[in-house]
Amino acid sequence: MIYLDHNATTPILPEVFEVMAPYLKAEWGNPSSSYTFGSKLRKALENAREQTAALIGCYAGEILFTSCATESNNAAIHAALKGRPERRHIVTSAVEHSSVLNYCTALEREGYRVTYVPVDREGLLKTADLEASLSEDTAVVSLMWANNETGVLFPVPRIAEICKARGVLFHCDAVQMAGKSEIDVGKLPVDYLSLTGHKFNAPKGVGALYVHRSAPFSSYLYGGHQERGRRGGTENVALIVGMGKAAVLARGKSRDHDRQVTPLRDRLEAGILDSVRASEVNGSKTLRLANTTNISFPDVDSEALLLLLDAEGICASSGSACLADSKEPSHVINAMKPGRGERRESVRFSLSSSNSEEEVVAAVRAISDAVPALRSMGG
Ligand code: PLP
Repeated sequence: MIYLDHNATTPILPEVFEVMAPYLKAEWGNPSSSYTFGSKLRKALENAREQTAALIGCYAGEILFTSCATESNNAAIHAALKGRPERRHIVTSAVEHSSVLNYCTALEREGYRVTYVPVDREGLLKTADLEASLSEDTAVVSLMWANNETGVLFPVPRIAEICKARGVLFHCDAVQMAGKSEIDVGKLPVDYLSLTGHKFNAPKGVGALYVHRSAPFSSYLYGGHQERGRRGGTENVALIVGMGKAAVLARGKSRDHDRQVTPLRDRLEAGILDSVRASEVNGSKTLRLANTTNISFPDVDSEALLLLLDAEGICASSGSACLADSKEPSHVINAMKPGRGERRESVRFSLSSSNSEEEVVAAVRAISDAVPALRSMGG
């Protein structure tokens, strides 16, 4: 298998599995129990909280464990709206993940007003557009750092400053940054920041939300006293411990990420552009993640192309894995190139340092065979 879909999910590293294993077997106690068999697990949870906090440079007490980034994103927006009940306006962008966009749609039905800041043809957001969208009524700005479909980066440090200056809470979906780039909330006036373990070699089903110590927070899951009363429910110790270990490894890896991955991504991209007529990169080539390239293949149905690649053992996707079963065009490509996104002709390739040059060469060959074959069959 040639796995080129690391923005969808990543493998659990052996070191991560190893630290989790005891909590799936012998250490099955409840961390809330008062006897030692259970209560000793609290130490493991707090250790994982320290490790996750260190990944983004915050205090352990500012980390709330969740089940995934969808939950983190919903929780952050919910907390901000409850914290500013007199304000009824939310600002986000047209290219966010469905966990933000679909929650915003639901909030619109409840009477909130939502502004979707546009992006340009390169997927970039102009901070002037963001500034123009803010008003006295704006409770929260929710914007991603790196786009999951194109890898394009938003100017998050500048956005955070703008929100702070305007007295608006700021939530950042940093899911695609973890393990790929440094995140230091100590240098960033962000109120909430979302992470999910499975994008940085932890298992699926565990995430985290950073809540700045002075940011408002309201529970959305009422229950026991877990997570300091912020999120009821017995903690999934094994997954949390796994994410803690993955956070330690990701911190080390992110330093070398660009140096290791850029040459592979660039070779794949150049190989495709050189060998496939009319293929074109979607998104800024400079302001983007080092591991991602999103390429349009005009007159080729991306799902058909993905099927041919799958038959060759190559994994890639046409957009977010969460929407892979939908017939809808990519809202990200559509926002960048109105009209173009209506046809599903783009494929996202997202690499990691575990990919090899041989894999890249094989992928280029498979793509440059498949695209003309599909075109000759009418797409
Ligand atoms: N935000 C972004 C940018 C993502 O890429 C994803 C997953 O693809 C999510 C949020 C949702 O993450 P999860 O699957 O943990 O809910």
